[in-house]
Amino acid sequence: MAPERGRILLHTCCGPCATACVERLAPDYEVILFFSNSNIAPQAEYLKRLEHAGRLAKILNIGIREDAYDHRSWLDHVRGLEDEPERGKRCERCFAFSLARTAATADELQIPVFTTSLSVSRYKSSSAIFSLGRAYQGFEAIDFKKKNGYARSIKLSRQYGIYRQSYCGCEFSMRH
Ligand code: SF4
Repeated sequence: MAPERGRILLHTCCGPCATACVERLAPDYEVILFFSNSNIAPQAEYLKRLEHAGRLAKILNIGIREDAYDHRSWLDHVRGLEDEPERGKRCERCFAFSLARTAATADELQIPVFTTSLSVSRYKSSSAIFSLGRAYQGFEAIDFKKKNGYARSIKLSRQYGIYRQSYCGCEFSMRH
């Protein structure tokens, strides 16, 4: 009999990024997606990305949990940093917002380990993500962009028919 895999909560920034992460984690963990993305605007875009993350969970036969959508609180959290470039201070605050909520949810669900799909993107600094994540017990610093993870996420999302967005997520990233 195969050994039982422990659970891991995967903060899922979007379905496409999660594809390659789940592929990497599945041999060792039972993966549960956590869609926590109050950064996304407008809400219609949020709902579209949520729908496709749900589609991925169905295809892969894994669990998914949705966080509350609270864009107003997110805007308060990044106030004063609206004009920062991508990869700047606003993005670090944004990572911190989602990581804190993921850590709290992992704790609530008694899932001992959590990580984030944010590290797949070549537009995001893995070291910035990891230094924020390490503030929480149970955080696994996994650099999903290694082993060609970003290219793999593009290939897999095409294969599964998962919608890939053209901007990062917040209204400030639309002009990028
Ligand atoms: S550009 Fe992306 S990572 Fe940066 S603040 Fe906006 S949604 Fe968050």
